[in-house]
Amino acid sequence: MSEIAREPDFDPNALRERYRIEREKRLRPDGNDQYVEMTGEFARFLDDPYIDERIERGPITDAVDVVLIGGGFGGLTTAARFREAGIDELLLIEKGGDFGGTWYWNRYPGAQCDVESYCYLPLLEELGYVPKEKYAYAREILDHAAAIGRHYGLYEQTLFQTEVTDLRWDEAISRWTVHTDRGDAVRARFVCMANGPLHRPKLPGIPGLRDFKGHSFHTSRWDYGYTGGGPDGNLDRLGDKRVAIIGTGATAIQCVPFLGEAAKELYVFQRTPSSVDVRGNSPTDPEWTRGLQQGWQKHRMENFNALVSGVPQEEDLVDDGWTDLVAKFVHRFRNADPGANMSLPQMIEMVNFEKMEELRGRVDELVDDPETAEKLKPYYQMFCKRPTFNDEYLPTFNRPNVHLVDTDGKGVERVTEKGLVVAGITYEVDCIIYSTGFEVGTAYTRRAGYDAAGRGGRLLSEHWNDGTRSLHGMSSHGFPNLFVSQISQAAFTANFPHLLEECAVHQAHIIGHALQNGFTEAEVTRDAEEAWVKTILGFEGGPLAGLGGPDCTPGYYNNEGQEHPHAAQSAPWGGGSIGFFKLLEDWREEGSFEGLEFRRS
Ligand code: NDP
Repeated sequence: MSEIAREPDFDPNALRERYRIEREKRLRPDGNDQYVEMTGEFARFLDDPYIDERIERGPITDAVDVVLIGGGFGGLTTAARFREAGIDELLLIEKGGDFGGTWYWNRYPGAQCDVESYCYLPLLEELGYVPKEKYAYAREILDHAAAIGRHYGLYEQTLFQTEVTDLRWDEAISRWTVHTDRGDAVRARFVCMANGPLHRPKLPGIPGLRDFKGHSFHTSRWDYGYTGGGPDGNLDRLGDKRVAIIGTGATAIQCVPFLGEAAKELYVFQRTPSSVDVRGNSPTDPEWTRGLQQGWQKHRMENFNALVSGVPQEEDLVDDGWTDLVAKFVHRFRNADPGANMSLPQMIEMVNFEKMEELRGRVDELVDDPETAEKLKPYYQMFCKRPTFNDEYLPTFNRPNVHLVDTDGKGVERVTEKGLVVAGITYEVDCIIYSTGFEVGTAYTRRAGYDAAGRGGRLLSEHWNDGTRSLHGMSSHGFPNLFVSQISQAAFTANFPHLLEECAVHQAHIIGHALQNGFTEAEVTRDAEEAWVKTILGFEGGPLAGLGGPDCTPGYYNNEGQEHPHAAQSAPWGGGSIGFFKLLEDWREEGSFEGLEFRRS
């Protein structure tokens, strides 16, 4: 009997109904507004706990060819590609005390890349480096970021512990003036913004948030002074502490095992369970490393990207939880019974049900207490939330000191002086750790922490008020010489550094051309911008559409379950990341820089 004719051992209608109920339970009228910005009295949550001492320096007023904002993988990859294109006069501005971006801030215990490190870590071949494990941990990733900085001589050209506050286009000299919180006013011919998509941590708007008298911090500012230990664990100061962690997303999945091991009591406050698939980490095989041929990383990134984009490949080089779903789909598709009369969307839905059933079964296998196991099972289609991969998270709930506090989709009810309240019960704790994620649906300029005033003083926030307006997601009319690396109007991929790499190559091409030919301005034309906006709108939703349907619980992938007024216009290019990267390559090869105007002042 073919696969497709086999009766599933679950009831699809019952699952559809269950998914719908779980979604309804969690929908709230305040959507994204349920979260609290880390400003005013909550600004202390943003303090950098990782710097030994503040760098003291006077303001800078240099003139450079390019200012790169952000020293994470975006800024580093861009700087590397600029160097290769002969663009040397660079200045990087980075808020943190070192390179790393996401990985500078997120060094909580257990932090690990959840996309295979051979695809995820940028510039491996350039640095002649192969990660030690299939999924690298934070320390190694942070070291790699520093190694990129050293390799390309970027330390000497970076202002650390410095935040951009404002960008202004100066018509008279065709340059941007970049202002910072250190009083700098750097004049830059070009500015590239690589602020990172998950840059601003957020707090849950739980009543009483400010009442708690114990210790508290956000996972992206881990307080090792309080917990002891480091990113590898050994949190030796928690032995006499009752700890609460709020949130069970990709971050919590990784740090909960370490908290469970160390804390006297650990309370995990859950609103929606994550899907937790097998991690199966393994050390890198030296034999495999020796056999790598030139160009291996690009080839591997493209193979992975194709598979997670649903494009079947002869070979699955990565072969992990990400590609497994596609492999299952391909298997089913190849074995489909033509008489079964199942449409493609129906087939995709069935594969998704099967995969989620497998993951719910995994919870039963790994968690001893059936009641706890039941609460840890996710009921939604897999890609409504970031899928997670971990082998220690679920068994942690078998520890006698670890308690799951399931809020039945409602979230924590209240914070008091002494702890947290759920269903009328107060859980007294010494410390609350907020694993509540980052701003996503808010305005780009708010997340960046600064605005850009372009031609005639027009603000980027105004220009993008009704959604992104750009060519290729990277630059806008009225904002000459300004580039951004982002998902909106560009592409979505599970391996974000892949997008950053493509943006870096593209920006190096344009800026390199301008500098080599003495152009002082490169600006997207009004028509090209308008045409790109129309192209984006023409896709009816783009690749993330459909995540707001009845089978999806709310979260940041779907604007907390609410229609976003700018969703269509700010969506990624709807033809998928493979198509988008090809489109950029063709555009470069065509050679006319279509849609850009170069000028000499
Ligand atoms: P998320 O936004 O994914 O998770 C936030 C968590 O907080 C959710 O479980 C959410 O519940 C919960 N929450 C929010 N408000 C409340 C409340 N009032 N009461 C109880 N719970 C609440 O943030 P993360 O930091 O976990 O992950 C963010 C992203 O970072 C990931 O999606 C991933 O892209 C990335 N990441 C990547 C890693 C990697 O290895 N590459 C590792 C870790 C993170 P609910 O789901 O109901 O909203």
